Amino acid sequence: MATTLSADSASATPAEHVRHRLPYENVLATIGWTPLIHLARVAKGIRTPLLGKADFFNPGGSVKDRIGLPMIEAHEAAGTLKPGGTIVEATSGNTGVGLAIAAALKGYRCIFTMPDKMSQEKVRLLKAFGAEVIITPTAVPPDHPQNYVQMAKRIVKETPGAVLAGQFENPANPAAHVATTGPEIWEQTQGRITHFVASAGTGGTITGVARYLKSKNPNIKIIAADPMGSVLAELWRSKGEGHPTGAPYKVEGVGQDCVPETLDMSVIDEFISVSDKDAFSMARRLTREEGIFVGGSAGLIAHAALNVARRLDDPEAMVVTFLCDTGERYLSKLYNDEWMRENQLLDAPQTSIADVLGNKDTSAA
Ligand code: PMP
Repeated sequence: MATTLSADSASATPAEHVRHRLPYENVLATIGWTPLIHLARVAKGIRTPLLGKADFFNPGGSVKDRIGLPMIEAHEAAGTLKPGGTIVEATSGNTGVGLAIAAALKGYRCIFTMPDKMSQEKVRLLKAFGAEVIITPTAVPPDHPQNYVQMAKRIVKETPGAVLAGQFENPANPAAHVATTGPEIWEQTQGRITHFVASAGTGGTITGVARYLKSKNPNIKIIAADPMGSVLAELWRSKGEGHPTGAPYKVEGVGQDCVPETLDMSVIDEFISVSDKDAFSMARRLTREEGIFVGGSAGLIAHAALNVARRLDDPEAMVVTFLCDTGERYLSKLYNDEWMRENQLLDAPQTSIADVLGNKDTSAA
């Protein structure tokens, strides 16, 4: 039977209608229960249903809103974070937003370190929430004092009352996805999901969702999409043997130069490596063909997920991909033709006024 899951008003269960019916206590209560959306246009001609978990619907615009509060609460419970304290984090931007939202409501100060490859929009966004942002060089090894994680650790040491939120080692990160993202996907697909495709930055999303889904049905396949240049795919294939060095890439927030503690490689059944060009091209397709405005990591994962759906071409299967963050964070980059062309990531010529007017003389315009 072909799967036609939808939540239109006729078929939706009462539970599907509950959200937003009553006022929320505060914005934190609106995190999670993001929509699951059929991606039927980009998957045209493929019989496998392809659905996207739209985590850009979270109030801070990304999946990382889910881990901000739980990581802070873990430190409060352990007594490492006290009223008036400071939260420090090494972030590609989105975790910073998730932490800043929770910190705003709880009255904590935030200091974030960020590699210089991240978009200006993210730096401005964090500052808008009142956070202090320190930019570090991207092209340094993980153990270099200028590395963003090392820098964050140093700030914690030198700042009284400061704690490292610790998205790369804090068990509250994957646990948040066991508690929320996994059950949401299971319920939204009515248990019909057969393949989950995500990528790993900290690995919290893929590890937590995989643990929950596999506890429900061990046959569900977990597929990791990894940027070309990240070492994760190579380390997974070699079972941790060797020391791959990696190479720079442009997609933000995913891939790594070493395996974080929060990533459980054993839950992953397959790795698919994706180029910047394919990732950005798919993000732009999702925006133009589906009206779903997402960042490069969502494009990267959707590119891999589409290949999985095509390979299966099975109406009984169901592939769920992850739409991690909003495209607004990348208007100066992957949605900027000039930046795309400068980085050899765009083949198609730019649309000119002459194209629009059918090559008429535009000199008077
Ligand atoms: N996409 C983006 C844009 C991100 O910022 C992140 C987190 N750094 C991820 C995906 C990956 O999420 P996770 O850390 O849970 O692996």
